[in-house]
Amino acid sequence: GFIVGLDEPTSYDGQLKPLSGLMDLTPVVNPELLELSKWMADDTYSFWISCIYTMLPNVLKAQSKRVVRIVDEIDEQTSLNLFKGGDELDFADVQNDPDAVSQLLKLRRAGKIRFEYQVVDRAKVKMVTTITPAMDFLQLEDVLHDLRKNAKVQQRLAAYLQNLQGHTVTLMQAEKESGLNSAAFSMGMKKGWLKKGQIERYRIPDSGRVPSERELTKPLKLTHDQEQVLAPVVKDIDQEQAQTFLLRGVTGSGKTEVYLHAIAHALKKGQSALLLVPEISLTPQIVDQVRGRFGKQVAVIHSALSSGERYDEWRRIERGEASVVVGARSAVFAPLKNIGIIIMDEEHESSYKQDDVPRYHARKVAKWRSRYHHCPLLLGSATPSLESYARAMAGNYQLLTLAHRINQQPLPPIQVIDMRPEIQARGESNFSTELLSALNDRLQKHEQSILMLNRRGFSSFMMCRSCGYVLKCPNCDISLTMHLDTHTMKCHYCGHEEPIPSVCPNCHSRQIRYYGTGTEKVAMELHHLLPQARVIRMDVDTTRRKGMHGKLLREFGNHEADILLGTQMIAKGLDFPNVTLVGVLNADTGLDIPDFRASERTFDLLSQVSGRAGRADKKGQVIIQTFNPDNYAIRLAQAHDYDHFFATEMNIRSQAGYPPYFYTVKLMASHPEEKEAAKVIYDLKAHLTGLAKDTIILGPTPRAIARLKRRYYYQIIIKYRHDPALHQCLTKMLQYAQQQYPRDVELVIDPDPQYF
Ligand code: ADP
Ligand code: ZN
Ligand code: ZN
Repeated sequence: GFIVGLDEPTSYDGQLKPLSGLMDLTPVVNPELLELSKWMADDTYSFWISCIYTMLPNVLKAQSKRVVRIVDEIDEQTSLNLFKGGDELDFADVQNDPDAVSQLLKLRRAGKIRFEYQVVDRAKVKMVTTITPAMDFLQLEDVLHDLRKNAKVQQRLAAYLQNLQGHTVTLMQAEKESGLNSAAFSMGMKKGWLKKGQIERYRIPDSGRVPSERELTKPLKLTHDQEQVLAPVVKDIDQEQAQTFLLRGVTGSGKTEVYLHAIAHALKKGQSALLLVPEISLTPQIVDQVRGRFGKQVAVIHSALSSGERYDEWRRIERGEASVVVGARSAVFAPLKNIGIIIMDEEHESSYKQDDVPRYHARKVAKWRSRYHHCPLLLGSATPSLESYARAMAGNYQLLTLAHRINQQPLPPIQVIDMRPEIQARGESNFSTELLSALNDRLQKHEQSILMLNRRGFSSFMMCRSCGYVLKCPNCDISLTMHLDTHTMKCHYCGHEEPIPSVCPNCHSRQIRYYGTGTEKVAMELHHLLPQARVIRMDVDTTRRKGMHGKLLREFGNHEADILLGTQMIAKGLDFPNVTLVGVLNADTGLDIPDFRASERTFDLLSQVSGRAGRADKKGQVIIQTFNPDNYAIRLAQAHDYDHFFATEMNIRSQAGYPPYFYTVKLMASHPEEKEAAKVIYDLKAHLTGLAKDTIILGPTPRAIARLKRRYYYQIIIKYRHDPALHQCLTKMLQYAQQQYPRDVELVIDPDPQYF
């Protein structure tokens, strides 16, 4: 638990328990974040404690383990040999053994043992050994004099200590510099030449890549356009205005440099800066750029850090030692003080919305903090979200525009290839004639290509051509995906795995076929078609290991491969000057998803990935393959026409009553039994009363993926414009649900859901 305040005398009339101890002597959440957590709990219909949890690095989360303590001699026969020799045992050790648990419960009833919670010792800080000379230069000189000629190690040690001139170094550094081993230093300590000590050592992620003061990059001289965009932001930093800016800048227009200048300005003013990016592991280049400019002042926060690294970065921020934070969604809670600017790059990205409790959107939290700190919030994107652009059009955000690429190159021409005739003419290949010859052409010229396989959507499945049977996950309404590396069919939602069948499980026909495409399959085809091409494949499978993502990108950057083949994870933020061709293998899989944002996501994705081509002085080219060449999202991405797309899509949203014309809330109930889930959702609907006249309630309906991880899902979508009663109604409903429903009912209230 967290102590969030003291209430004396208490207004609570139940039985109170005493605090058994404090885990931290200083507050782990500062007053600002405490206030934010309270607001967030209310805003996202979450428990207050889950909001505090979300803000903190793992090691600071209160952890305890359940232990069993023996309070009486145990005379009866038990199978719990674990009891021998100790008076305490970790409950987790027996938890999976129902017999053991039932015996423990029996013993507890008999008063022979007690269950207790014990705080887990959190090894939070990493300490390293240091050495300090215990004698001054002249004393060491005497030591050297007195040493025997062949006491080589001692001579080297004493000389090394002399060189340190009284300074403290870590033992590791000392070993490296002197070439002596730790035994030598221990010997030195025994002789009284040196003292050993301990200091705290920060675990800095990727610390090898933090440049020193001298290596920092110089700010680039801004172009006129960049100056124009930066000026109002800087003005608001100076005047401490909490205005929101929306910077719409085409890919390669130099948005990052504008961010860096804004950050530098805040720092110069003695303030701190927060830069949010969609997923750090996917955009390592921006981290390098920020670190390259601001060096060790930068802290990096993202989900792939070890908990120690994360905690240390958090502490560097908390102590004011790092005043620039770069990070993904959760970095929006960085304990920075005196923030001068908050920047959110690629503000349209759906990863800014947390998909789990608490279901917050980082943009909204950033807005809250910008108001708290009286600092501007700068949202940047080549393809702003409809919500944000509509706000800018309405004058709620100040619109800033970078319409041209820095290199004055036009955006790369995009060719749309209709795959229907291609397939008929050449059979089932993932490569059209044009794409193949373009790839070939780059190989000749020693230029590089990026190939994206849009895997979002329900592609990749096994179907029997005799009976039409599709192999599905036993736990979810999802078809299984074939993985050749493990020779299994996998569910990407629950992790279920089974062997690849050789005959149809339904009719035993051998006529089973695999539809859809995975990166693995494409890589094989590519190898067959262009055997001389060196291909790097990038997807969840090849990047699972820590650091692999960055490693593969660095290899590609060093031209150790000709083609980077990947899923959506390669669409963002990459800036490789030698890449002149971008190919999208299947532009339309994202369009099949039952989601009102499907077109917007497709447009964004195509625009993003196209922006990877021709970023330096060489001309770029983009080839998009599709089965829906007339789809407006594809057509307008081809034309680089955001304005037209915005107008078209807004029209559709207006007619269908979707955001940004309406706000939405999703209510979802789930249960292992389908009829229980349905019962709950109908019960909840009956509680939606007293709402505004133009508030629309859709459903209940089963969710698009009606069954997931052995649970059934039913949902209601609420659409509203302005409904003062709704928030309270939902809050009350949540309280009601917590009291009324059994524990196996799960209820979700998701404000501004990303998917329906
Ligand atoms: P965006 O983030 O808008 O896609 P980037 O910030 O990656 O664009 O900029 C594209 C390229 O232009 C980068 O290689 C960057 O170093 C370069 N660049 C940006 N601003 C300037 C400038 N003022 N002068 C010279 N080069 C610049
Ligand atoms: Zn599953
Ligand atoms: Zn069959």
